[in-house]
Amino acid sequence: MLIPAATYLTYAEAVTLYNDLLAADINSLVKTCGPPSFPFGDGIWYQLLIEEEDADAARASVEDFEARRATVRVVRCPRCHSPDTMPVARPGLWQRLFYAGTTLHQCAGCERHFPA
Ligand SMILES: [Zn+2]
Repeated sequence: MLIPAATYLTYAEAVTLYNDLLAADINSLVKTCGPPSFPFGDGIWYQLLIEEEDADAARASVEDFEARRATVRVVRCPRCHSPDTMPVARPGLWQRLFYAGTTLHQCAGCERHFPA
C-alpha cells in the first residue's frame, strides 16, 4: 500500500526529496495534491508516496529533508547587508517585467529594492 511520505511540497522540493529517496534505494511516486490549479485541474502542491514497507527506511531521508526545508534562507540587502528584508507582495508591472524570474525584495533598513 502506498502512504504519503511528505505532502504540500513545491515541485522543486518534491524533486529534491524524490532524489534523496532514490539515493537511499527507495522508489517514490510524485503526485499533485491540494486545491486544483486552473486550467490543468491538478493540485497546486505535490506529495511523495512511498510503499508502506519502505516507510522505516525512508524516515531518515524524510526527516533530514524536513529539517532542511524548515531552515529559512536569509536574504540580505546588497547595499547595507541587513537580513531584515521581505519579498515585495505586489510589485508594479515594470518591476515584474524587469525582475522576471526572480523575486523582488525590499530592505526594511534602507528601503532598497533588489531581486533574489
Ligand atoms: Zn538595505
